[in-house]
Amino acid sequence: MDETKNTPALILNRQDYKENDSLVTVYTPCFGKLTLVARGTKKLSSKLAGHIEPLTLADLLIIRGKGFDYIGSAITRAAYLGIREDLNKLYYAGRAINLFNRLTKENQSDEHLFFLLVTWLEILNDFCLFTRECGELVLAFFTIKFLAELGYQPEMYRCLGCSSSISPGLNYFNLLNGGLVCAGCFEKNRLAGGGGGGAFRTELLTISDNCIKLMRFMVDNRFKSAEKLKINNKTLKEFSGLLDKFILFHF
Ligand SMILES: [Zn+2]
Repeated sequence: MDETKNTPALILNRQDYKENDSLVTVYTPCFGKLTLVARGTKKLSSKLAGHIEPLTLADLLIIRGKGFDYIGSAITRAAYLGIREDLNKLYYAGRAINLFNRLTKENQSDEHLFFLLVTWLEILNDFCLFTRECGELVLAFFTIKFLAELGYQPEMYRCLGCSSSISPGLNYFNLLNGGLVCAGCFEKNRLAGGGGGGAFRTELLTISDNCIKLMRFMVDNRFKSAEKLKINNKTLKEFSGLLDKFILFHF
């Protein structure tokens, strides 16, 4: 590895380290997630401190160290003031960044993940008339695309059991395999003992037609279209709950 590298990086987390330093978790397009030391950030004269706060996109010079690599210099590229100045936006940005930090592993690079998060933050930054419902919606939008990029894109058009197209009515979402199961397959499985009865039931949730439509829309469309979506709270709650259970099941 080279002694130094220049890279854009999104700051995910910062914590105090030793007497005067910080430990900073960043995500970069080419090197993935890294934990770096920023030296002297608690001194008033620090030139780094203002550029390494979470929710900052910065250009970093990274220098190879004996233990942790460290940040030689940092220049802010985007501070997302539209998010920082709106507590509601800040809350949802924090949740997305925490989820991103929790589900990504160190030193595995995926530039799509980097651009997914940066694009989403830009949309959130510029979002007009941002309500709590908007927050739940854009967070769910981020989550489903993030999961897809991690390799957990749910099958939303064909039944996982019999491959026939899903028709409106009673359907289930299979948490284990990530996708829809038709009522016919559910019934067959139940009569056959469900491959463990209780276990089978905990892997399946009923899912409403509106929730299926919303999930398909988010998988197939760009974040920008969130501003035009009109979703009732019940569907949004169902969808967010399903995503939470799906994440709990797999991570
Ligand atoms: Zn089926």
